[in-house]
Amino acid sequence: MPGAFDSHCHFEPGDDAPALLARARAAGLSGMLAVGGEAAANRCALAAAAAAPGFALAAVGFEPGEAGRVSPEAAAAAIREAAPRLAAVGEIGLDYSRGEDAAARAAQRALFAAQLSLAAELGLPCSIHSRDAADDTEAILRERLSPALVREARAGSLHCFVGPADFAERLAPLGLSFGLSGILTFRNADALRAAVPALPRDRILVETDSPWLAPVPLRGRRCEPAFVVHTAAVLAHLLGLEEEEAAALSARNALRLFRPVPARPQGV
Ligand SMILES: [Zn+2]
Repeated sequence: MPGAFDSHCHFEPGDDAPALLARARAAGLSGMLAVGGEAAANRCALAAAAAAPGFALAAVGFEPGEAGRVSPEAAAAAIREAAPRLAAVGEIGLDYSRGEDAAARAAQRALFAAQLSLAAELGLPCSIHSRDAADDTEAILRERLSPALVREARAGSLHCFVGPADFAERLAPLGLSFGLSGILTFRNADALRAAVPALPRDRILVETDSPWLAPVPLRGRRCEPAFVVHTAAVLAHLLGLEEEEAAALSARNALRLFRPVPARPQGV
C-alpha cells in the first residue's frame, strides 16, 4: 500500500531539500505537493519537484499576503510560465485574519479570482488558503472554478482545514478536498477531530504545511514532510482504520487531484 502523501508543504530558501526529501522517503511517504506562495517560495517548490521527479510535485501561486505587491496579471504570467511543471496552482486564497481593510480585501479577491480562472483554463487543481473569509472564498470558488474539474471532484484542496463541518458541506459539492494538518493532533482540536468522520472519505488529505505546525509528538520542532505520518496516524484512529490504510487513503485521494507531471528532457 502507498504511504502517506503530504498534500501541502513548503520548501524555503536555505532548506537542505535533498535531506528533507530523503527523510520523507525514509518515513515511508509516497509523495508530496511542494507549494509556493510568492516568488522565492515558488522557485523552491519547482526546485524540490525537479530534485525528486514523481515524488515531489509542484504548485506555484501567490498567496493573499502578496495582494497589492503582485498584480493579478503578473501572478497569472508567472503561473502560466511554470505551468508545464505544475501539478497544481497554489497556495492562493483569502485571509482576513489581520484586520484587512476593504481595499486590501478587494485586492486579495482580485488576485485569488485571477489565479482561479487561470487554473481553470489550465485544467489544474488549486491548493487554497481560507482564513476568516469563508463566505467570500465560497462565492469566488463558485464563480471561477472549472466546471469540468468540479464534476471530476478535482477542483483542489482546502488546505489546513480546521472546520467548521458546515464549511466542508458547502465546499464538497464544488469538488474540493480537505487537507488535515498537524492541528489534527493538537490537544485543543477536539472539534476538528469530531468533524473528520463526517468528511467524504474520498476527499480527505493530510498535510504538514511545513515548516509550520509540527504535529504531536514533535510540536515545537521545525516541521518537515516526514512528520505527516503522525497526522495520518491520528486520522486512522478517527476513521477506525489501520495506520497503513489511512496513509494509503491519503495517497489515493491526493493523486486523484495532483497528478504527476510527465518527465521532460533536460533543458526543455
Ligand atoms: Zn501553506
